[in-house]
Amino acid sequence: MNEVLAQLRELRAGDLPTHGGRTLAYVYDSGLSEVDEIAAAAHALASSANGLDPTAFPSLLRMENDLVATAAGLLGGDAETVGTVTSGGTESCLLAVLAARDARPGLAAPGLVLAETAHAAFHKAAHLFGVRKVVVPVDPVTFRADPAAMAAAIDESTVLVVASAPSYAHGVVDPIPEIAAAAAARGVRMHVDGCIGAWVLPYLARLGADVPPFDFRVPGVTSISVDLHKYAYCAKGVSVLLHANAGLRRTHYFASADWPGYTMLNPTLQSTRSGGPLAAAWAVVRHLGDEGYLRLAEVTREAVARIRAGIEGINGLRVLGDPDSTLIAFTAAAPGFDLFTVADEMKVRGWYVQPQFAHGSSPLNLHLTVTAANHGSEAEFLADLTASVLAAKSAGPVTVDPDVAAFVAALDPETLTTEQFGDLLAAAGLTGGDGLPDRMAPINALLATAAEPLRERLLLEFLGALYTPGPH
Ligand SMILES: *Cc1c(COP(=O)(O)O)cnc(C)c1O
Repeated sequence: MNEVLAQLRELRAGDLPTHGGRTLAYVYDSGLSEVDEIAAAAHALASSANGLDPTAFPSLLRMENDLVATAAGLLGGDAETVGTVTSGGTESCLLAVLAARDARPGLAAPGLVLAETAHAAFHKAAHLFGVRKVVVPVDPVTFRADPAAMAAAIDESTVLVVASAPSYAHGVVDPIPEIAAAAAARGVRMHVDGCIGAWVLPYLARLGADVPPFDFRVPGVTSISVDLHKYAYCAKGVSVLLHANAGLRRTHYFASADWPGYTMLNPTLQSTRSGGPLAAAWAVVRHLGDEGYLRLAEVTREAVARIRAGIEGINGLRVLGDPDSTLIAFTAAAPGFDLFTVADEMKVRGWYVQPQFAHGSSPLNLHLTVTAANHGSEAEFLADLTASVLAAKSAGPVTVDPDVAAFVAALDPETLTTEQFGDLLAAAGLTGGDGLPDRMAPINALLATAAEPLRERLLLEFLGALYTPGPH
């Protein structure tokens, strides 16, 4: 047993660090070691229990109701508010769309109105559930949804309007009251994607931050998603989808008695549901409590302010928009250096920052998800960022061979064969095997020249190459 675990530890040592604040995307670290211990112990206690049947495992039923009640209390819910614990933000968003679609079964082409900064989970929902997307451009300076344009996009077949609190890419809260009012005026549901922000924004507001209204206190908001595995600092695998009342939630439930086995009865996309993540979240939320989250929000807020001010002071960088929460996106204020190289240089110095490709009005930028664990090392982060920008400046811009760029620009992903994709991936340096090379800038620069459908296909083929077991 020890040998197996030693092997696992060795494997894990090759990952990005999930603690210590050096990985500024994907992971959320409270910086409190007992939080991990309690989560692990609670996970172990309940991982064999199955949420498939809450009457067989009433502990899971109780913990789910407790978590939903806590989330509803935090987000201005009332006695009518109900919810569902899901496996993550994407599942919460999928279920919000599914519930909205199935509440209007007569529609031939149900529509989803979303700001272009809405999370890709909604594109996935539209894809999976056959819902027509109506993507509305955001303000090109603030990156906030444009309420007039959102209102104008609503029509008779709109089943759901989506905005974010805040958006992942820029960390800004959309004007929820105006958008919700427009939706309500047309009798349409309005989902607030609070996956990344809804657990921390209420605490930031209590600390005096100027947080725009976004929760159930806003008339017209019918559902909110909030991920506990983000700023509730829970172990991965837990999100909550709240609905303003049970009638709104009802249409994402599923039952089937049409087979010889047990009547399948599912509130979520999963059927067997591990009790592990739920119990871990329940334990962490109770352990930290309201005061614990307030303290974590306080240090996170300080870290965000220091990092933001530091970035604004680095020659050549510019923060995008006016971030409302704990996320910061910054871009190059002038040509002459390459942001992908800055990310590579940060990697060399032990930090992971997340490149975001240009899209619509949003230029190529680097994203930071700041958590409580970043508090205390802001100066070190900023010194390394300054050095990384200098290194990128002296390296100069990464250029893609114009012939290669022209070749890539002319490719049609629809007509390429798997073999041609293989050649392209090899040419791009994306061959799978040991994963990614240390220097991503040349690959990212090439990917940036590819139109989005081609980039999607290339990366999917790459994913397939990654998920191919080698010889055993
Ligand atoms: C993270 C996130 C999601 C998706 O959540 P997952 O847990 O990664 O599935 C959806 N919306 C927003 C705003 C997010 O930040």
